[in-house]
Amino acid sequence: MSWDSFESKETCPCGRGTYRVVLSSNDWGQSRTEWHMDCRSCKSAYSLHTFEYYSNGLRDEGHAWVRTGPYKEAKQLEREALAVKEQALALAKKKHLGSIVARLDGISKKRIWSAIHAAVPNYKSLGTFYLHTKGMVTREIASTLFSDFELQAVWKLLGVQDKEVTQMLASAASLQKKSEVLLRTNSAR
Ligand SMILES: [Zn+2]
Repeated sequence: MSWDSFESKETCPCGRGTYRVVLSSNDWGQSRTEWHMDCRSCKSAYSLHTFEYYSNGLRDEGHAWVRTGPYKEAKQLEREALAVKEQALALAKKKHLGSIVARLDGISKKRIWSAIHAAVPNYKSLGTFYLHTKGMVTREIASTLFSDFELQAVWKLLGVQDKEVTQMLASAASLQKKSEVLLRTNSAR
């Protein structure tokens, strides 16, 4: 498998040098982009921020030069956000897994799926659910609900949202937001 590369030079953020954008693609239709800073002063003043985004439903990778100080601060906030989110989900599980297991015990997998699907409209299809939960006991299935995406189903099944957990998740979201704002406002154009 061979990669074909195409390289272009762009003006760096300070305007006195350049950075290279290397676009590569292979026979399998895969492609990747790499940015390399060649300007010495920009190399210390800026960090390369690589991020994922979706355009027309396809995952793509974006790049931006972000001032190094704010970049490090943003990455720190991102780590804090992730840690708070993980704590919130662990707390939710500790407090509510037992009730969810009791709530789901003895009902068919199809009805468990229906209950989750009613709370999380983008939830996996019934066929995929059967596949993913093959051989799992109710407790294991209930455990999978304590994640970012499925937590709505927990509140729906309990009939109430846990305020403590919800507040922790809100503060994680606000840390994440702060990080994104820092990256955006300190990106070189
Ligand atoms: Zn420069």
